[in-house]
Amino acid sequence: MRLSLVGIGRVEGDTLEWLCGALSEVLGWRCRLEEGMEVCPGYNPLRGQYSAEVVLWTLSRRHTGRVLGVVSEDIYAEPMNFVFGLAELRGRAAVVSTFRLRHPERRRFRERLLKEALHELGHTLGMRHCTSPCVMSFSNSLAEVDEKSMEFCQEHLRMLRQSRG
Ligand SMILES: [Zn+2]
Ligand SMILES: [Zn+2]
Repeated sequence: MRLSLVGIGRVEGDTLEWLCGALSEVLGWRCRLEEGMEVCPGYNPLRGQYSAEVVLWTLSRRHTGRVLGVVSEDIYAEPMNFVFGLAELRGRAAVVSTFRLRHPERRRFRERLLKEALHELGHTLGMRHCTSPCVMSFSNSLAEVDEKSMEFCQEHLRMLRQSRG
């Protein structure tokens, strides 16, 4: 499996490079850092946020294979006030936002980002929300992100192994 990683807005290059390496290691996929997008698509002036669905649609049109966008802006998807990320279930495109994941400790910030990226990429493989200790458990707050496991449960690990082909 090949993954394209795309920075959108103002995401630091070293964060993207680190994420690409960490995702390759955990998923066993090849990750490639692609040319980023300076301006995030999908701005909604009524909300002062960006539509995660428009970002997914843009990424799907811009890239042919599996693609993960990492956005510095705050993103939303109806009916939620905000989302940490969004993905097409059994699709190609996923997006995560760093906006609400920031933490003064770089280690904590990166751990959050990796969890959310793994979670959204899991959705692209057809994984649904999980009630086991699993990175596929749903998180609606930073506390839940911090609490949840970085690992996939046994069932989801099987689905991941299949993706390596
Ligand atoms: Zn989810
Ligand atoms: Zn699971």
